[in-house]
Amino acid sequence: MDPEEVFACIEKMTNAYQCLDDAADAFWEEDEPYNFGDLGAVEVLNQCGWSGQTPLDRVVQWVFVDYEYAEHDPSLVNFPSPIEEFFLVHDQRGFEYLPQRFAQDHLLCSDATRGRDAKCNGAQDNIRLNQRVTDIKYDLVNAGGVGRRVKVRAQSGGTSAFPSQQCTEYTGKRVIATVSAGVLNEDLIEFDPPLKYPAATSNPMKMQQYIKIFYQFPTVFWDNNKEFIVSLTDTTLLESAQSGDCNHWQNLDAREFVEGSRTLFCTLTTEAYEKLKNASGKLDPNVLTGKLLDPLRHAYAAFVEPIDTGVLTDTVYYPGWKTDVDTGYGSYSSWSAANRFEYDDYYRFFGGGPAEYCKHNGCSCDADNTWNCQDPEWTLLFAGAASCFEYYEVVDGAYESGIRSANYVLKDLFDPDIEVETVCDDMEDRRKLRTRHLPKFRP
Ligand SMILES: Cc1cc2nc3c(=O)[nH]c(=O)nc-3n(C[C@H](O)[C@H](O)[C@H](O)COP(=O)(O)OP(=O)(O)OC[C@H]3O[C@@H](n4cnc5c(N)ncnc54)[C@H](O)[C@@H]3O)c2cc1C
Repeated sequence: MDPEEVFACIEKMTNAYQCLDDAADAFWEEDEPYNFGDLGAVEVLNQCGWSGQTPLDRVVQWVFVDYEYAEHDPSLVNFPSPIEEFFLVHDQRGFEYLPQRFAQDHLLCSDATRGRDAKCNGAQDNIRLNQRVTDIKYDLVNAGGVGRRVKVRAQSGGTSAFPSQQCTEYTGKRVIATVSAGVLNEDLIEFDPPLKYPAATSNPMKMQQYIKIFYQFPTVFWDNNKEFIVSLTDTTLLESAQSGDCNHWQNLDAREFVEGSRTLFCTLTTEAYEKLKNASGKLDPNVLTGKLLDPLRHAYAAFVEPIDTGVLTDTVYYPGWKTDVDTGYGSYSSWSAANRFEYDDYYRFFGGGPAEYCKHNGCSCDADNTWNCQDPEWTLLFAGAASCFEYYEVVDGAYESGIRSANYVLKDLFDPDIEVETVCDDMEDRRKLRTRHLPKFRP
C-alpha cells in the first residue's frame, strides 16, 4: 500500500480525534457535565467528519480507539485523551519483580532478619499470601462499646499446590480492599452489611479485555524490520475479529525486542474476546490455531504453522485473567458508556472525593440507613486503580489510591484535621486534561 495513503488517513483520524477531544472538553466545561448523555467516542468521531468506511479507515480507527481503550466504543469520560508516548518494556525479570522486591524489602521477615531488623522483632510477616478474602464484616461494635471494628475472613488451600483448605479470620479497626472492579462486580466478596450502593447499580467501572495471544513459529516468515503487522479487511475490523481473525500483530522478534524468539503476538479486545470465548471463558484450541491465523496465512506465502509440540501452551499462549477468580477478572477498569452512570454513582460506590462523609459505601451503618447512622465510622475503604478517578485504568491509580485510602484511615481514626490531598481527585492535575474540569458533585 502507498505510504502516502496511510499517512493521509492517519491525518484524517488525527483531526477527527482532536475534534472529539474538543467536544469532550466542552462537556467538562458545562455546569452539570454529569448529565452529558454519553454518546460514546465513535458517534462523536462520526459527527466530527470521520466516516470509517474503507478497510484502511477501519484499521486506523481500531488502532486509535479499540487498541487504546480495549473496547470498540469507549465512554466520552475517557476524553480528552492524554497524549503520551508508550513503550513496550520487556525486562526479563518480569513485572512481578517489583512487588516481590518491595515485599522483600518492606514486608517480609526472613529468618536472618528476624530479631535483627526492628520491624521483625517478634513480628510475623506483614503479608499473608495465597489467601482469598471471602467475607468482610465492617460494623462490629468494639469490645468497650466505643468505636467499630471489622472482621475479614479469608480462605486458603483447595488447590493442587495447597490441597488442605483453611479459613482464617482477622479483626481490626479498618480495612482497605484493593481488589479489582471485576472482583467487586462479580460479588466475589460478601460484605456484611451489604453495600449500600451495590456494584450492579452504582459501579461504572467495568473490566475490559486486552487479550494478547503469543505464537511461536518455526521460522520467521514476516518482514523482521517491522514492529507491527496489520491486515485490511472488507468488513469492519471489529466484525472481522469477532468472526475470529487476528488483524493486529506485533513482532517480538524485531531488533531490540526479543530477537530470535520467532514470536508474533496478536491482540484481541473486549468485544472480539466476548464473541470468541467458549462457555468456560477460554479460547478453544481450534480457534487459537484456526481462523485467528488466517490473515497471516493469506498475507505470507512462506507462512508456516506455529511449532507443533503436541502441547499447545508451549507455542501458543495467552493469559487467562478474565476467568481467574484469583486475579482481577480482566485487564483494566474503564468507565462503561453503556450504562449511563453518573459521578454520584462513582463516588457513592468507591467513597471519598466530593462525596459527603459516609454518604457512600463502607460506613458502619446498615444498608437501609436505619441504625448506627447517627455516628457512622468509615470502616471499609476501597482502593485500587478503579477507585482513582484520574487514573482508573493504570498502575498510577492503584498506587495513588492506596496512599489516599491510608490517609483517610489516619484521618478517621486519629486526626480529623488531616487534609487528604490526592491526585485521584485533583482538579489541578495537568497530566490529563479532563482533570481541569472535574465536575461539581451534585448536592
Ligand atoms: C495486559 C495488561 C497490560 C497493561 N498495561 C499497563 C501499562 O502499560 N501501564 C499501566 O500503568 N497499567 C497497565 N495495565 C493495568 C494495570 O496492570 C492495572 O491498572 C493495575 O494492576 C491495577 O492494580 P490494582 O492494585 O488496582 O489491581 P490488581 O493488580 O488487579 O490487584 C488486585 C489484587 O487483589 C487480589 N485479589 C483478588 N481477589 C481477591 C480476594 N478475594 N482476596 C484477596 N486478594 C484478592 C488479586 O490477586 C490481585 O493481586 C495493564 C494490564 C494488563 C492486564
